[in-house]
Amino acid sequence: MTDRPAQHSAPPSVRRVLTLLVAACIVPIVLVLAVLIINFYRQEEARLVENTLNHARHVSAAADREVRSTQLALQVLASSYLLHERDLRTFHARISAVVDKLHVDSILLLDLDGRILLSTLRPYGSALPQLTDRPLLQRTRSTAMPGVSGIFTGPLVGQPIVTIAVPVIENGKVVMSLNATVTPATLQPLLFEQKFPESWRAGIVDQQFRIITRSHDMARLAGQQLPAELRQPLSRERESAFDSYTLEGKRSLFVYHRSPQTGWTAILGIPHDELTAPLQRSLFWLITLSVIALALGSTCALWLARRVTRSIQALIAPALAVGQAVPLPLPRLYFSEARELGQALQIAARDLQRARADSSESEQRLALAARAAHLGIWTRDLRQQQIWVSQAWRELFGFNAEQPITLDDLLARVHPADRQHVQRTLDSTLYGATRYDMEFRIELASGCQRWISSHGSVEFDRHQRPTLVRGVSLDITSRKQAELDLQQKQKEVTHLARVAMLGELSGALAHELNQPLTAILSNAQAAQRFLGQPAPDLAEVQEILNDIASEDQRAGAIIARLRSLFGKHDAQRQRISAQSLIDSVQHLISNDLIHQRLTLRTELCKETLTLEADPVQLQQVLLNLLMNACDAQSQQIEHSNLIVLRSARVGQTLQLSISDSGGGIPAEALEQIFTPFYTTKARGMGLGLSICRSIVDAHGGRLWAENNSHGGATFHLRLPLAEAAQP
Ligand code: ADP
Repeated sequence: MTDRPAQHSAPPSVRRVLTLLVAACIVPIVLVLAVLIINFYRQEEARLVENTLNHARHVSAAADREVRSTQLALQVLASSYLLHERDLRTFHARISAVVDKLHVDSILLLDLDGRILLSTLRPYGSALPQLTDRPLLQRTRSTAMPGVSGIFTGPLVGQPIVTIAVPVIENGKVVMSLNATVTPATLQPLLFEQKFPESWRAGIVDQQFRIITRSHDMARLAGQQLPAELRQPLSRERESAFDSYTLEGKRSLFVYHRSPQTGWTAILGIPHDELTAPLQRSLFWLITLSVIALALGSTCALWLARRVTRSIQALIAPALAVGQAVPLPLPRLYFSEARELGQALQIAARDLQRARADSSESEQRLALAARAAHLGIWTRDLRQQQIWVSQAWRELFGFNAEQPITLDDLLARVHPADRQHVQRTLDSTLYGATRYDMEFRIELASGCQRWISSHGSVEFDRHQRPTLVRGVSLDITSRKQAELDLQQKQKEVTHLARVAMLGELSGALAHELNQPLTAILSNAQAAQRFLGQPAPDLAEVQEILNDIASEDQRAGAIIARLRSLFGKHDAQRQRISAQSLIDSVQHLISNDLIHQRLTLRTELCKETLTLEADPVQLQQVLLNLLMNACDAQSQQIEHSNLIVLRSARVGQTLQLSISDSGGGIPAEALEQIFTPFYTTKARGMGLGLSICRSIVDAHGGRLWAENNSHGGATFHLRLPLAEAAQP
């Protein structure tokens, strides 16, 4: 049987396993690092937003401070007596002198109708325009409180400005408004004080989200309203952060703070890439380092895998050499387990070499013994239906050296008469037989016949299924021939014994009967003489006839005595078992059975039954009965080939019954067949059964015949059992 490996998908290589191991170690670390970095980035972003919001608050507070200080200065000027006295010329000169110190671009005085009464930007008395749109003036007038405007284009300067206004109050009433104008450029330093990075965008917008001042591109953008996408988030809360695009179109994070005092909003925009740059840098390094670590790990794994693979592959040759039992020198091995395995393989190879040497020696011995004993050895694999045979077996059965042997080849060699029996015996190994012994004939190509004795022993697997039959076959032709010769001789001896016995019997009869017969003859002659006379003496004749009758009775007694003597003659009584008696008879008759293609089935009593008898005489009785059964069987044209020998205990006797399926015995002859010289056979003597009955009678037993209901006859033989041996 060949062991085929189970069909599984190919397992991964060592290289792949180690690379996966490296990846399995590195990937989770990388993932944890990524989560940590992103978390850190989120916290940094929140911190940055908070910081930036502080910057926006500072800008807003600085603008508030600036406005408040300007308002204070304007309030001081507005309370000047020069205004009460309407000495506007001197007032003009005064404010022109301080305008630079107030960090404003101009100061101007308005009446309540929006007329510009004087401006530090124009010499006193110059014609000045009137304001058309005057929301701040109206507010100042109605609230009598200082205020600031949004950005608008100044009528005098023609560029964007914001105005800071304080009311001029006389007798509790607002009579004029003193205003200071501030250009975006003047407010710009407020943004730079915080020292923002160059990339950041900072600005202040008014209540309508028009740009009052801006850190970049201010000249172009001052006075312009912010686009809707910026206005919307700005209008929601007083301070917050949101993502949007700067006016330059750069994606940025915006933070803003609106002053409740002025309504102006300080806004800071930080470019997004600047915000995410540290994260991106970290991620970049993380990925780079991970890739490097993976590459290094994989290289290392590949290097290790190559060493492991080389070590394992280097062991293939020594492993194969184990099968040939040749220990190979170990190659260079890179790890201790491989070295241990290599050493184990070397030991295994050495052990195998030793075992092979031992086994080859015992095989040689066995082959020698098998040859000497003409033993053919064979093995039959019941699963693979393969047969292995030794050379001696091939010679025995006449097969060539290389010819494969099948069961059919073997059966074809078996003698047709024995083939069915051989086939049945071989089949019995498939159905639970554990061993068998059989004898059969084979016919060789040369035409000569050989007697074979074959012994097989069945091997089973762990499920008790037969797997293998091993056995030996032996040439027993000469033994068989000797047995046949012996049986022939035995038959001849039996025949001669019968003839001799007949001779003896007739001699004895002649001798013993001579006297009464002579007496009968002389008496008969005397009677003839008496009756020949003219007046015969009938009384004398009556006496002579009485003498004849008594002589005749004497002759009968002589015959009976001789028969009884014959029965006991030379009886050698000894203790024998019924089994050994039956075995010996079976053995003696076996060849006759084979020749006549008959089968003897025995149905024997399990108990050991012992007789006190002459074994040779009883063998003779049983042989006679069995041979008669064979004769009866073979005279039938269509006969069954079965003869049954049964043994049983009946009280204190052993009963042996031999049943055949021959023609049976006519009812009127059932007793007659036991009389001497009764025969229906052409070459029969008709003495067998009569002698058998004499022998059985002499043993204190009984022999009788009856016809079977289904055809054939049964001879019953009952013999007393020996008394139990004395202790
Ligand atoms: P022989 O065998 O020489 O004839 P036996 O005394 O053994 O002498 O047998 C006498 C006769 O009994 C046989 O010729 C046969 O007719 C008959 N006989 C014996 N055994 C059987 C039997 N088994 N079946 C039928 N007839 C039998």
